[in-house]
Amino acid sequence: MNSTTGPTNFVRDIILEDLKTNKYGGRVHTRFPPEPNGYLHIGHAKSICLNFGLAAEFGGKTNLRFDDTNPCKEETEYVDSIIDNVHWLGFDWEDRCFYASDYFDQLYEWAVQFIKAGKAYVCDLTADEVRQHRGSLTEPGQASPYRNRSVAENLDLFERMRAGEFPDGARTLRAKIDMASANLNLRDPIMYRILHADHHRTGGKWCIYPMYDYAHGQSDSIERITHSICTLEFEDHRPLYDWYVQQLGIYAPQQIEFDRLNLTYTLLSKRKLLTLVQNGHVSGWDDPRMPTLSGIRRRGYTPEAIRNFCGAVGVSKTNGSTELALLEHYVREDLNKRAPRVMAVLRPLRVVIDNYPPDLVEEMDAINNPEDAAMGTRKVPFSRVLYIEQDDFREVPPKQYFRLSPGREVRLRYGYFVTCTGVVKDEKTGEVLEVHCTYDPATRGGDSPDGRRVKSTIHWVSAAHAIDAEARLYDNLFTRENPDEAPEGQDFTANLNPHSLEVVRGCKLEPSLRSAAPGSRYQFERLGYFCVDLDSASDRLVFNRTAALRDTWAKIEKREGRNLK
Ligand code: ATP
Ligand code: MG
Repeated sequence: MNSTTGPTNFVRDIILEDLKTNKYGGRVHTRFPPEPNGYLHIGHAKSICLNFGLAAEFGGKTNLRFDDTNPCKEETEYVDSIIDNVHWLGFDWEDRCFYASDYFDQLYEWAVQFIKAGKAYVCDLTADEVRQHRGSLTEPGQASPYRNRSVAENLDLFERMRAGEFPDGARTLRAKIDMASANLNLRDPIMYRILHADHHRTGGKWCIYPMYDYAHGQSDSIERITHSICTLEFEDHRPLYDWYVQQLGIYAPQQIEFDRLNLTYTLLSKRKLLTLVQNGHVSGWDDPRMPTLSGIRRRGYTPEAIRNFCGAVGVSKTNGSTELALLEHYVREDLNKRAPRVMAVLRPLRVVIDNYPPDLVEEMDAINNPEDAAMGTRKVPFSRVLYIEQDDFREVPPKQYFRLSPGREVRLRYGYFVTCTGVVKDEKTGEVLEVHCTYDPATRGGDSPDGRRVKSTIHWVSAAHAIDAEARLYDNLFTRENPDEAPEGQDFTANLNPHSLEVVRGCKLEPSLRSAAPGSRYQFERLGYFCVDLDSASDRLVFNRTAALRDTWAKIEKREGRNLK
């Protein structure tokens, strides 16, 4: 699924057909049009990959366009984060970053043109009254009493709306289409509303702002977009999109709708994500539990994994739900190939090898990634006192427990075979403080000289050489597959998972991680994929667990007899 052999889908089929019939003179020009009212999320990634991917496949272009028609909710912080995240995903719009607000003058002129043609009027109904007049799916709407104002009066009032004579909400400019249309969007939709608010780009220049529907198609037209790809909820808006463009007689792009991405255990709505941020349920837009691109990036997800995932989910004409496990599967698949493997102990237990020389330190050879020989090897120090995972020792082993326990021999990965000879316990609590072992010098590197088998291989870190770190382990942010299904009288926050973050301090890492830079990703052997967090400093390493090792998606596929893509 690279840029020259895109996945087959119906949007691509439409483009192929248009190329065949030369509808746009062989051009393919798409755009990604975010509203800068929040951070981008994984759903946006699907749209980004589709828009940029299709254009790239056919030698076309993609514009980045900020749909900044609502001054109240939009901020420069969001613009900056969007630019940063689309680049991070691996896409580029060259010099074509535009704003709907770039077109405010043109849109105003066109509105005047609509008024002059008798196709728009200034309406004094309040928002509530407009809604009441609108009718329903079964009943036609009622005409506004202001519908038949003269062109002269409309021009005068619209000019005065622009000049700031009226308060917010006092009047609107409406398209004069059809109050009986079966499509509610065509029942004299609002084109402009009064908002005395500063805009992040145009400042105080305007106090009337165009509605999304009035701005979008014309913006596409101005930019000579060929295929205006958007999500299914805009399907019913397409007749209006076409109407504005046709009435103006300007270049007409083609709107095509596809299904939104929905993910289990995840909310993909900027409004709800903003609630999580504002109410402190997460540490910010880039909290690694957030489905925002900033969040999953900080968590350690790679752009390649996200692009592969978006390619795999494809596009369709019906909304559905995708398993979060599928996204995680693509993250693991990518990290498995590229993340160096290292040894780290999250919950340390001291191990003393009684027959190992007290002053000896051996440098053991360790493989950086068995999936990729080119990643080479490194040295890991081995000494008399080590840390192992508390979970890798049981004083009284249950059935099927093959890791270290008294009398049992196991392999220390890249180290030696060791046999447990005893434990030191806290006299009062009975807690195991230290495990004692002996090692077999003939098993250096973890190889058995005589074909002797052990049932378990565990990881370790030399105590004298270990680096301290903090690990942040994440679980789903919500406990329900569909977080919107909340108990009576409650909202989605009732489904927040109280255990979505676990902070483990006092972790011990092998010394090769000493200068690990923020953003670097590793596989901690047997524990999962981890990424160095932004909060790390040279004296305080912090790791985010990107994903555990167990691939639940692969398990689901196996159970259901399906084949992974
Ligand atoms: P949200 O509800 O999260 O605010 P939105 O659709 O209002 O989403 P926009 O900034 O308007 O967000 O979206 C920019 C583009 O991304 C649009 O073309 C939109 O259709 C697309 N998009 C948004 N959410 C998804 C999603 N979950 N799956 C696929 N595409 C999406
Ligand atoms: Mg929106």
